[in-house]
Amino acid sequence: MPDSAESPNLMEALVSLAKRRGFIYQSSEIYGGLNGFFDYGPLGVELKRNIRDCWWRDMVHRRDDIVGIETSIIMHPKVWEASGHVAGFSDPLVDCKVSKQRYRADQLFWSPVVVDGKVAGYVSALESERTGAELQEAAESFKRKKALQGALAPVVVKDFTEAAEAEIPLIPSPATGEPGSLTAPRAFNMMFQTNVGAMSDASSVAYLRPETAQGMFVDFKNVVDTTRVKLPFGIAQVGKSFRNEITPRNFIFRSREFEQMEMEYFIHEDADWAKAHEEWIVWCESWLKSIGLPDSHLSRYTHPKEKLAFYSRGTVDIMFKYPFGVQELWGIAARGNYDLTQHANASGKPQEIFDETTKKKFVPHVIEPAVGTDRIFLAVLTAAYAEEDVTDEKGNTEKRTVLRLSPRIAPVKVAVLPLLKNKEQLTNRAKALYAKLKRNYAVQYDDGGAIGKRYRRQDEAGTPWCVTIDFDTIEKPGDTFTLRERDSMKQTRITEAELFALLAEHVY
Ligand code: ATP
Repeated sequence: MPDSAESPNLMEALVSLAKRRGFIYQSSEIYGGLNGFFDYGPLGVELKRNIRDCWWRDMVHRRDDIVGIETSIIMHPKVWEASGHVAGFSDPLVDCKVSKQRYRADQLFWSPVVVDGKVAGYVSALESERTGAELQEAAESFKRKKALQGALAPVVVKDFTEAAEAEIPLIPSPATGEPGSLTAPRAFNMMFQTNVGAMSDASSVAYLRPETAQGMFVDFKNVVDTTRVKLPFGIAQVGKSFRNEITPRNFIFRSREFEQMEMEYFIHEDADWAKAHEEWIVWCESWLKSIGLPDSHLSRYTHPKEKLAFYSRGTVDIMFKYPFGVQELWGIAARGNYDLTQHANASGKPQEIFDETTKKKFVPHVIEPAVGTDRIFLAVLTAAYAEEDVTDEKGNTEKRTVLRLSPRIAPVKVAVLPLLKNKEQLTNRAKALYAKLKRNYAVQYDDGGAIGKRYRRQDEAGTPWCVTIDFDTIEKPGDTFTLRERDSMKQTRITEAELFALLAEHVY
């Protein structure tokens, strides 16, 4: 059985399953698609909604210290000036003047080709799991083509932000393989601009939000004044964000329209922020495990102090082993009181809280866990996907594709299958059970084709259980069904009451 993390073609398999089974489609596919935008199909929308609902239940409903809000996607443009996004929300962009390709400078790698201690030329490669190896291969090929004699030094992997002015014209474009066409990196603001109202001039410029977080800061006073929250407390929000990414890629990992689930946890200015920060990292890790992500795929990356923004106390990313490498899934940042202070200064409205004990006003500090729903979605698919060889009753071996999704987030919780579709006694009992189940759960009724085929269909959709209404159900006492478990493929008998108890235990 191939381990999902070791399958070299896992990404292709995931994209293909996502399309084939209606999890994810390209946006506007009949028009050729739009790079960086995606649609969620009938199974995908359920899975995504379940991820979001689990997060909301655990983050908001099941805690006493966190409230939710939903703010508008387009906010006053001054919000983005105060937050620093107008001036600084940019990635370094490099253009290839010949191919018109655009690259993110920090994802475009290069190395000098050094032969006998002298620089003989340059090679480049785009960021991948094998960047170093690709550059080495390119350097060897360069040496062969130019028929250079002497010892080739190992490549030194650098990104384009590290290229000196004199080196830029010498580095080949990944698109053409020739030097001379790449521009120096320049800042590219990733906010999408639009105009509000009938006027289309500078006075009407507005932005689609690049993060949901500013909504929590801008509504901070409203929440404090209209609810009974007391420090420490959090404000949570789920919603769409938009970033004009230079290189959207890796399927839904980096797109231009995506969903974020963010929470701002406000603490006293004298509170132990490092402790609160660590507690939130642990919370996020254990939440990811609760929806089925295995420990083996999760790790932490602590941002080095010297690379943090000046106001940031510390940032830790929870990383996930995607098919294309270990990448950021969830960022947990200790942001001091920077954001509230910025908005207080820009709006002229103090953003303070009164401390009953010291009788002093102060601006609270904040811990921010920020995650993308789509990135969790892709992580969940990565961890859940498996292909197995299975043997049927007749001894035939066949391949089955299965999504081992946690029952918490599986799009369909149970499939109800009458053994035969033309036997009314079976279908009546099946329909009655189906009607009862669907009041509380997302369930499917499927009477099409051989039972084995129907099980496979549900395996691919990640349905944890199938119940088959068979002759024992109607002929033997006890009104029991066959319960077929997705992962073990074990079959046992179960009553209706036991089935509801099973669901109540696992779907929470
Ligand atoms: P990256 O370094 O990968 O661009 P980031 O550090 O800019 O991400 P944040 O601004 O911290 O990301 O956003 C918080 C979370 O939002 C990320 O951890 C990620 O899960 C999600 N996210 C950010 N950008 C995208 C995107 N373009 N597509 C999908 N999800 C995203």
